[in-house]
Amino acid sequence: MKIFIATKNHHKLAELERILLPMGFEVLSENDLPEPLPEVEETGVTYEENALLKAHSGLQKTGLVTVADDSGLSVDILDGAPGLYSARYSGFGATYASNNEKLLAALQGVPREKRTATFVSAIACVFPNGREFTVRGECRGYVAEECHGNGGFGYDPLFICEAGCYAEMTAEEKDKVSHRGNALRAFQEELKKYTGEGGVC
Ligand code: IMP
Repeated sequence: MKIFIATKNHHKLAELERILLPMGFEVLSENDLPEPLPEVEETGVTYEENALLKAHSGLQKTGLVTVADDSGLSVDILDGAPGLYSARYSGFGATYASNNEKLLAALQGVPREKRTATFVSAIACVFPNGREFTVRGECRGYVAEECHGNGGFGYDPLFICEAGCYAEMTAEEKDKVSHRGNALRAFQEELKKYTGEGGVC
């Protein structure tokens, strides 16, 4: 089955592709289009709403079954921040480094047991016939006191889950436990209701 991945984030695209390909999907992305995807204003108040906005924009552009991810890191003691605003936490011109710096500053002096956090990924899937669904994957962990490792992207150097720091894992290790890996496994299950025998697409 052909699936279009609507994202402008090449790190996310790499993760989505490397998990969806072995599941047997034929994956297309912005790289296969004659022109770039439009920027989508993330006006939703949930991860699911934002993922749907991005997926619909991809569907509009391609006419293909489209998936999109909206994700973020929710830190308990910060009332869920950076959360929906994870990409732009440190304001206009935010970079992964400036976001990590801001998060470390916000948690300065907070002991290990109070640095608990959840990484969340909502995956939206929209179909040309108007149907749609969302699924969510999470990974629980805590925010380290300094950056670790060289791998991954975003908050990976600061996020430690039971299996270790995201930025110190191989791609396969991260996919096995990550919020995005968990969301895509839920997506694969949910998709069965919409395709194949008795399905509607
Ligand atoms: P958005 O989904 O494009 O709004 O942005 C998600 C933001 O959350 C990214 O820019 C990263 O800062 C962060 N993020 C999402 N998933 C990951 C991940 O797997 N590792 C590290 N950071 C992530």
